[in-house]
Amino acid sequence: MIQARVSFARCPHYLTQQVEEAVRRCVGLLGGPEAFVRRGQKVLIKPNVLTDASPEEGIDTHPEVVRAAIRLVKPLASVVYCGDSPSVWGEKKDIDRVYEVSGIGKVCREEGVELVAFTKPKMRGGYPLTEWLDKVDKLVNVPKFKTHGYTMLTAGVKNLFGLVVGMNKMKIHRDRPHPEDLSRALVDIYEARKPDLTVLDGIVAMEGDGPGSSGRLRLMELIAAATDAMALDMVMAVVMGLEPYEIPTNKEGMRRGFFEGGLKTVELLGEDIRFFVARDFALPKTSYLSRMPRWALNIVTALLTMKPFVRQDHCRACGLCRASCPAGACQMSGGTMVIDDQKCILCLCCQEICPHQAIGVRKNFLLRLMSGK
Ligand code: SF4
Ligand code: SF4
Repeated sequence: MIQARVSFARCPHYLTQQVEEAVRRCVGLLGGPEAFVRRGQKVLIKPNVLTDASPEEGIDTHPEVVRAAIRLVKPLASVVYCGDSPSVWGEKKDIDRVYEVSGIGKVCREEGVELVAFTKPKMRGGYPLTEWLDKVDKLVNVPKFKTHGYTMLTAGVKNLFGLVVGMNKMKIHRDRPHPEDLSRALVDIYEARKPDLTVLDGIVAMEGDGPGSSGRLRLMELIAAATDAMALDMVMAVVMGLEPYEIPTNKEGMRRGFFEGGLKTVELLGEDIRFFVARDFALPKTSYLSRMPRWALNIVTALLTMKPFVRQDHCRACGLCRASCPAGACQMSGGTMVIDDQKCILCLCCQEICPHQAIGVRKNFLLRLMSGK
């Protein structure tokens, strides 16, 4: 039985009109914006604004895709907000800087939309999610298609981690050192507030060691829309040349009864998915971690050595990794950033946030053999 629908459109550029047409085409195939937003409702748009990267760096959701999502719902909504909880946990001025550099601040001003920062939490499903969820009727999820060193894919479900307010994200990471545990938390959050509509920016995707500056950009020419964020991720696994269950959040969702029947439960619409499938899509070097069952990981952990390290020739001592490290393992020593292996829990938040590709991952021989790299 069909449980959700996912639509695709081809879009080779981030030109305003082309992106808007592609988003409208995708959402039109799902019934149009009226199928998701009723007249007079309040809408929150949630892009992926990880860090203060320019649109060309491909780290954050591109501002033109955010613009297209705004234009889609604004004629119906009484008010539209746009917001995220970027991986800077400083003062509001730091979050504002991220919004400006990412280009999303400018788009929101031009489209007359209030940009909000997720600073106040309210417990939902056991997690401190933004209070803005209580202030709106509808949530429109606008993720970026990227790899993730820990969860393999960041798209529909992983983008919802940004609903967690500020420093709480670090604590969730710290308390869940195994990818299976973090995936459980991500699916909890997805269940706590399923987005009403998801629109994916996959025009320029990120492969390899995403989701930060260590990943590689890849033109995929892809815009997608989905009635369900996890259904989108099931399909995006196929685009990456994987089986849906190989993405840990999909596997956890299927274990809970979501899309148990796999892709047979998702209706595909629009452009043929085969146009987008990239069997050579580069996975993160650490993807074996997500795919390895816990019992196997526990047995071999003692034999494996994987250590993040600071490439001193790239490091600019900006301190962002220290601010994002949930284990307090990134420390300044003699004017340079170093990582304390004893404290490190291998969450790779430092690699995700570093804007200068200064965090590398060192693996021993056995690990290189297992991961095929
Ligand atoms: S490793 Fe990266 S994030 Fe950390 S201090 Fe150096 S440049 Fe900044
Ligand atoms: S050093 Fe990096 S990988 Fe290790 S705990 Fe800190 S953020 Fe995570």
